[in-house]
Amino acid sequence: MKAVYKANRGKGIEIRDISIPKISKDEVLVKVKKAAICGSDIHLYEWNDWCENVNAKNPMVIGHEFCGEVVEAGDNVSSIKVGDLVAGETHIPCGQCNMCKTGKQHICQNMKILGVHTDGAFAEYVKIPEVCAWKLTKDTPPEIGAIYEPFAIAVHGVLKDKITGLSTVIIGAGPIGMFAVGVANFAGSSQIFVVDINDYRLDLALKMGEDIISINSGKENAVKIIREKTGGIGAEVVIELSGSVSGTKTGFEVVGKSGRVCLIGLHSKEVPLDLVNNVIYKETTIYGITGREMFDSWYLADKLIHSGKIDVKKVITHEFPLEETEKAILTAKEGNCGKVILNIS
Ligand SMILES: [Zn+2]
Ligand SMILES: [Zn+2]
Repeated sequence: MKAVYKANRGKGIEIRDISIPKISKDEVLVKVKKAAICGSDIHLYEWNDWCENVNAKNPMVIGHEFCGEVVEAGDNVSSIKVGDLVAGETHIPCGQCNMCKTGKQHICQNMKILGVHTDGAFAEYVKIPEVCAWKLTKDTPPEIGAIYEPFAIAVHGVLKDKITGLSTVIIGAGPIGMFAVGVANFAGSSQIFVVDINDYRLDLALKMGEDIISINSGKENAVKIIREKTGGIGAEVVIELSGSVSGTKTGFEVVGKSGRVCLIGLHSKEVPLDLVNNVIYKETTIYGITGREMFDSWYLADKLIHSGKIDVKKVITHEFPLEETEKAILTAKEGNCGKVILNIS
């Protein structure tokens, strides 16, 4: 089969012919229809510090956001059958540890990530454990199936706590930020601010709801604008998706007293923060968000997508064939795009 292969710890990827994965009793083999480029695929393409920090496998097939049809199921697999259309949950839990046993499989003590620690989905076929296969309705367009995984991160982060009627700031207008705008808008945030330095992305984020206020923090003073527009008290909810030091700093400066900050964007190094003024005196609640809750976030994401009330299609802007994965990754990296899709079969 054709696969996007990371052969060594240098920059780049190649398209290679490799053998189709062999499944175990607890796994399914999926013929991938469409996949989506994620920020971590850019890290893997470049092979930067993040890859060493997370102990990424090398060599390997990259990619983890995907949708495809099950073509083979292991002997122990009971909930999924050949012919099912599935999306992949990328957190591979052990099923045995204290987190797995208490409903927190998504932060399993022995967690592996598809396409980071195991061979991934930018290939004609991928194998995943039964537990990671989310069954989709047959009429789900494969590109929508491929974005369930990142959409469900936005669902997890935005709906982590009360949101209706609260002023909400979304920092980082990448695809998950765009989804987060859609979810916050649907859930009834009273005001939604979206902050980024890329106008293309801000314009797309504006389309995910009504009366969204976009702020280009490269040109405008986000802290001043948000303070002014919230009557001087600051925002009640901040969703941090930029993973940048300045974005995170802005988030903690604009959160008002007794507000909350949800941290989702990944940083490659330690972040300096004024904890006394921005957390202790304000009594700020901080949530760390890793992926999706298994499977609360998936049920919610599924219902929201099916309701048609959040138009997730708007976030998809580019599509490339598997052979042009490098171009797709570079498009995502350059940033004048929403979600970039790979058309595989
Ligand atoms: Zn991802
Ligand atoms: Zn576990």
